[in-house]
Amino acid sequence: MKLLENKVALITGGSRGIGEGIALKFAEHGANIAFTYLSSEEKARALEVRLSEMGVKAKGYKSDAADFKAAETLAADVMKDFGTIDICVNNAGISRDNLLLRLTPEQWDEVMQANLKSVYNLTRQVMRPMMKAKSGSIINLSSVVGVKGNAGQSAYAASKAGIIGFTKSVAAEIGSRNIRCNAIAPGFIETDMTHYLKDGGAEKWFEKIPLGRFGKTEDVANAALFLASDMSLYVSGQVLSVCGGMSM
Ligand code: NAP
Repeated sequence: MKLLENKVALITGGSRGIGEGIALKFAEHGANIAFTYLSSEEKARALEVRLSEMGVKAKGYKSDAADFKAAETLAADVMKDFGTIDICVNNAGISRDNLLLRLTPEQWDEVMQANLKSVYNLTRQVMRPMMKAKSGSIINLSSVVGVKGNAGQSAYAASKAGIIGFTKSVAAEIGSRNIRCNAIAPGFIETDMTHYLKDGGAEKWFEKIPLGRFGKTEDVANAALFLASDMSLYVSGQVLSVCGGMSM
C-alpha cells in the first residue's frame, strides 16, 4: 500500500544522508519530491534522475536553508512548480563539534543559523499554503543529542533542543488548522556527518546503544513516512526517537 500517493513533499538537505533516504522512501510511497541542497550539485542531479525513474515528479533546488529570503523564494518556486506543499521536512543541518572552551562565536552562529533558524525560515513559509489547504505535516530533524546533550557538542545540542521547543509551540499554534508538527530525534545514523565515529572502532559506541548497531538512513526514513502519512493523523507535538534505545 502506498501511503503518500500524489502528495507533495519538500525536503531540505536531500542531496545526501538522511534527507536523501527520506526522499527515496517518500517517492517509493508515491509522493512528488521537491528537495534542496547547498553545494552537492552532482548528487542533487543524480537524485532527481533516480526519483523520476521511480515514476514521481522530482526537482532539486539549490537553496541555503540558513537564509530567510532564500526560504521565501524556495517556497514560492515549489508552489509554482508543484502547486502545493503537503509535507515539509526540515532536515538540512551541520555539526561543528568543539569543546566549549574552544568554541568560537562564528561556529556557534553557523550551527544556530543552519540548524535552528533554518527550521523557522521554512516553517514560516509553508504554514500559509498548508493553512489554506487545511492540512499539512511538518517534520523537523532534531537529535538524541538535543534530548540528552553531549560533551563537545554544546552548540549542536542547543540547536537541536531548540528545534524541540519550536516543534511543540508550532504544533500548539496551528493544530486547529489541521497542521501537524513533529520532530524526529535520531541517534547515530550512518552518514557523512557521523563517519568519524568509526575512527578508533565502532564497538565502543555499540555499548551505549541497546540495539547494538548504528542506525541506517532507512530507519529514520520509516519514522518520517509514519509522521508524513495519514497513519499519524492524531499525532502532533511529539518527538519520535530513532536511536536504537540510546535515549532511555
Ligand atoms: P549529512 O549527511 O551531512 O547531509 C546534510 C545535508 O544537509 C546535505 O544534503 C547538505 O547539502 C544539506 N545542508 C547542510 N547545510 C545546508 C544549508 N545551509 N542549506 C541547505 N542544505 C544544507 O547529514 P545527515 O547525517 O544526513 O543529517 C541530516 C539531519 O539529521 C541533520 O539535521 C542532522 O543534524 C540530523 N541528525 C543526524 C544524525 C546522524 O547520526 N547522522 C543524528 C541526529 C540528527 P549539501 O550536500 O549540498 O552539502
